[in-house]
Amino acid sequence: MTRIFNDPADFADEALAGFCDAHSDLVRQVEGGAVRRNRPATPKVAVITGGGSGHYPAFAGIIGPGFADGAVVGNIFTSPSSQQAYSVAKAANSGAGVVFTYGNYAGDVMNFGMASERLKAEGIPTENVLVTDDIASASIEEAEKRRGIAGDFVVFKVMGAAAEAGVDLDSVVRLGRKANELTRTIGTAFSGCTFPGADQPLFSLPEGQMGLGLGIHGEPGLFDTELPSAVELGQELVRRVLAETPSSDSKRLAVILNGLGSTKHEELFVLWRTVAPLLREAGYTLVMPEVGELVTSLDMAGASLTLTWLDDELEQYWTAPALTPAYRRGAVGFDVAPVGADEAEVDATAAADYSSTAGSRAYAAQCLQALGTTAALLRDSESVLGDMDAIAGDGDHGRGMVRGSAAALKAAAVAFERGAGAGSLLAAAGDAWADKAGGTSGVLWGAGLRALGERLGDEETPTPDVLARSVRAFADRIAGLGKAEIGDKTMMDALLPFAASLEDRISSGIGAEQAWAAAAADATSAAASTAELRPLKGRARPLAEKSLGTPDPGATSLAMVFTAVGPHFTAAPVPAAAN
Ligand code: ADP
Ligand code: MG
Repeated sequence: MTRIFNDPADFADEALAGFCDAHSDLVRQVEGGAVRRNRPATPKVAVITGGGSGHYPAFAGIIGPGFADGAVVGNIFTSPSSQQAYSVAKAANSGAGVVFTYGNYAGDVMNFGMASERLKAEGIPTENVLVTDDIASASIEEAEKRRGIAGDFVVFKVMGAAAEAGVDLDSVVRLGRKANELTRTIGTAFSGCTFPGADQPLFSLPEGQMGLGLGIHGEPGLFDTELPSAVELGQELVRRVLAETPSSDSKRLAVILNGLGSTKHEELFVLWRTVAPLLREAGYTLVMPEVGELVTSLDMAGASLTLTWLDDELEQYWTAPALTPAYRRGAVGFDVAPVGADEAEVDATAAADYSSTAGSRAYAAQCLQALGTTAALLRDSESVLGDMDAIAGDGDHGRGMVRGSAAALKAAAVAFERGAGAGSLLAAAGDAWADKAGGTSGVLWGAGLRALGERLGDEETPTPDVLARSVRAFADRIAGLGKAEIGDKTMMDALLPFAASLEDRISSGIGAEQAWAAAAADATSAAASTAELRPLKGRARPLAEKSLGTPDPGATSLAMVFTAVGPHFTAAPVPAAAN
């Protein structure tokens, strides 16, 4: 049963929209399906999977670095249209060609085929790799008629990793076809699946029976039989797949024991207990096996066993890192801290020897609060900033600011514990920000915070004047590093007006709190005005025209942060205005 739905006709669309929202750090919804959130830094082959809905994590769940570039998402168990395939391919294409890869079903073959013709007519090299792993669906003599089931996953993974490594279109296609030729799957079903809103299952099996080789949409299988024990089932699956061992002398296997939707992981592990030893007894080494749901069929109960005979290059791509909503493998360098890094950080800070005055300690507590406010604000704004950066940049500004500010907060908390004054606390926060954020803005924010801390020092409670000069030090350091000027459409367009406005107001005797609030308002309107500018610095520069009408993400985030931290930086012990 599918129990959670509104209008059944909208089910697939609503599921896609929810999925894209939940995983907005990795994927972006486009007409016809979804693509990666970030475009590749350099052109690469776009690997696009697809098919009907109802098979999650196939197909949209495996979009991301190391795996697919996009997925074309049809209605439940229904091929997407050629228009959808075309549209997703256009969105994912980065200039090195497109390959559609999908299970061998007539509707998919036609629609992806038509989309390919259209793309080729536009000069975009486009290829198709069909998956035909289901040994129950046709004899080996007619292997090209076989349909694609869980073997999809291995073929897509190999192609995705190869494309990520920069392999050209012909080679990605060759690798995909080779992976398909060396992949075999047998599936079994215990019960049918039910469409949202339907009161009958799409197909059914008599209670206590199992359908061997039944297709994932209920297509006929080999035969029905009484439900065997787990051991008997494991033996039957292994025997049938090994009976089709391809002409390969490889003794290394990629293995997938796949659940079809309502079979529990625990059941699969029980089955694995039989499958794995049998394969090892047959002389095989099992390379990064997967036991879980990889290609499902709504709420169907059942399991399938997939084997791929690996040669060196297939194994290289099968085991390569991937970072997708439903599937993560390996330590993908940019997003995973090495094990133990947290401990190392704490130790490094422990060695620091802080000495500070009581006034600076009190102010350090306020700086720590400011960093807490910053981290929380940026967490809430991550997707807004990311979307803004995606228009003409690479979409990572939200992520970078979140990572940087979270690391800064953590480092500042440790420094505070160790007795740091305000200056040392901000300097430590800046170093952590620069270290962890990634991206241009991360380097600049990190260096700026360090300069702010150095100017504040650990000796005194800052006067409004010192505060204004410290902000100026922040701006000077960033200007020195980034060399951007007013009008270049960068964070400087908010920062320089802020610094100038704060200095003016404070030197004319306005209290720190009001001066800061007014300067923040100036920065906010200056940031908004960057919408009219074309970027002259940074990653958005090549797409200057696209950026018109959208404010600069770095200027926007800077104005937001400066607005939010004002109360922390200007509250007592900063002395009130003299008048
Ligand atoms: P990246 O551009 O490396 O992806 P982010 O997306 O995190 O980094 O940050 C982009 C922002 O960085 C831009 O919106 C802009 O405000 C700022 N920026 C880019 N280059 C410069 C520069 N040279 N000086 C000051 N700010 C810059
Ligand atoms: Mg960016």
